[in-house]
Amino acid sequence: MAYTLKHKLGFDDFMIYEKIDGVGGTWRTNTYPGVGCDVPTILYSFHFNLNPHWSKELCDGPEILQYMEDTVYKFDLRKHMHFSIECLGTAWNKGTSQWDVKFRDTRTKCEFTRSSTVFISTICGISYPRDVHFDGMEKFQGPMFHTARWDHSYDYKGKRMAIIGNGCSAAQVVPQWYHERPNHNFTKAETWSFRYLPLWERWKRLQLFLENDDLVATYVPGVKASKKRAAVEEHAKKYIFSRTPKKYHHFLIPDFPLGCKRRIFDPNYLDALNVSNLEVVPEGIREIDETGIVSENGTKDELDAIVLVTGFQVQQFLTPMEVYGKKGKSLNEQWKEHRGAQAYMGSYVHNFPNFAILFGPNTFPAHNSALFSCEVQIEYVARTLLAPLVDMKASIIEVKGTSENKWVNSIHGQLKGSVFQAGCLNWYINEHGRNAASWPGYASTYWKEALIPHPGAFVSKGGSKLWFLRRLSRWLRTTSSTTYSLAIILIGIGIWGRNVAFRDLLRRATAIMTERVTKLVSR
Ligand SMILES: Cc1cc2nc3c(=O)[nH]c(=O)nc-3n(C[C@H](O)[C@H](O)[C@H](O)COP(=O)(O)OP(=O)(O)OC[C@H]3O[C@@H](n4cnc5c(N)ncnc54)[C@H](O)[C@@H]3O)c2cc1C
Repeated sequence: MAYTLKHKLGFDDFMIYEKIDGVGGTWRTNTYPGVGCDVPTILYSFHFNLNPHWSKELCDGPEILQYMEDTVYKFDLRKHMHFSIECLGTAWNKGTSQWDVKFRDTRTKCEFTRSSTVFISTICGISYPRDVHFDGMEKFQGPMFHTARWDHSYDYKGKRMAIIGNGCSAAQVVPQWYHERPNHNFTKAETWSFRYLPLWERWKRLQLFLENDDLVATYVPGVKASKKRAAVEEHAKKYIFSRTPKKYHHFLIPDFPLGCKRRIFDPNYLDALNVSNLEVVPEGIREIDETGIVSENGTKDELDAIVLVTGFQVQQFLTPMEVYGKKGKSLNEQWKEHRGAQAYMGSYVHNFPNFAILFGPNTFPAHNSALFSCEVQIEYVARTLLAPLVDMKASIIEVKGTSENKWVNSIHGQLKGSVFQAGCLNWYINEHGRNAASWPGYASTYWKEALIPHPGAFVSKGGSKLWFLRRLSRWLRTTSSTTYSLAIILIGIGIWGRNVAFRDLLRRATAIMTERVTKLVSR
């Protein structure tokens, strides 16, 4: 967002407030052993800053964090960022037509307010660990922490540890205690090609995007999709059985269709299950006491430490922030009436003017880069909200309630019969049984939908009649030299085709230049 505001829209008057002490979000917060990307990192990168130096196909958290920090430095974005400042909430001020935003400095605990024309939430749904409660858990004497709050001071060598949860993060953290993550390290030749062959990395990225997007063909409703899904499930089943001890086979194959929970590409988790000092217990937890866990069948396991790998509060979009719209109602109250979070194009909510959410409801791609979805949304928000405000084409823009409901109904219609609704317990489905997270189809479809905005979906007010002059001046300022050169070449070709005198002039100029160059060379 910062890159788009500064370099694409040529707008400098913005601030980013971040509650932790630096950039990187997910990759600064999650530092557990084995944390890494589960989609190829060439795909998990910004379109405006491809990185030819990735060390391997699926990079680890620290390398991604370094890339994020380098991007901020390269595009001079740091001066727009305030760290260790938590946003507590905001309210639309009818008098000033601005957002009054409340913050707290997490170091000094000092609270303060700022006003802004636009408020954009980029806090993502995967940043607050999901709180879980087990009877007696407060009695446990040893350390107990969530993967997102990994206690690096704890030396777990030779200790008995329990991992509660068995999803994506568990699959990454478990094998770390035995092996390194199997991965393809890029060779020098590959890195050289990414660096020096024009468009090579971009081409690879496109291939990876299409390959990942193709996985969605097994998730959608219909006979063709179920046949494809059955074939992939069979293949996965064989793979699982070939890597794991027999004693686990009866519960390792899920009883729900592929894709109902996020698909995991094995980071060596299955091999780790063969290690003699690791035991998978397919049981719920009855209680936790001072020294361990009692499972539902009454068995007690004595433990030194417990790691909660229980995921994130994905459904609580924007919480714990409280956002009050133009009618004085909070976003959460409005969403409760709709049985969960919803937003037009995953970004805009009616009654909340000059407001947008990134990575909002129903924008999570099935198995593609989340950064791709975020970038599509950023481009969309830039065109539909930010550019008109910066150019003073309007001073207030809000999505219509009817447009929002129509769009959301269509998304839920498409989700019906998809694997995401197949009845398993997954983080896409909220407490009301509504899927407020998943994008129902291909990531490319989202991009296509965002490409041509529907101006009729919005109401706007205010602005200046001379807005087009501001837009022209902005275009002139932000257009790159490459675009200017291309435009001059195209204009030249256009004139060439129509005008004989101009063609003669160009020919003579080229002949003179060639003659001079030849003379210079022959000297
Ligand atoms: C362990 C893990 C692995 C993942 N792996 C992948 C992957 O392989 N591929 C993929 O596509 N996606 C992955 N994701 C999803 C990931 O969240 C997104 O890819 C990406 O990080 C989203 O970026 P973001 O900027 O929207 O959110 P984040 O990176 O989560 O950044 C949000 C920021 O907002 C800050 N914040 C939150 N609340 C407040 C507040 N009230 N005030 C101020 N600041 C606040 C947070 O501190 C955080 O820094 C993973 C997520 C996790 C947790």
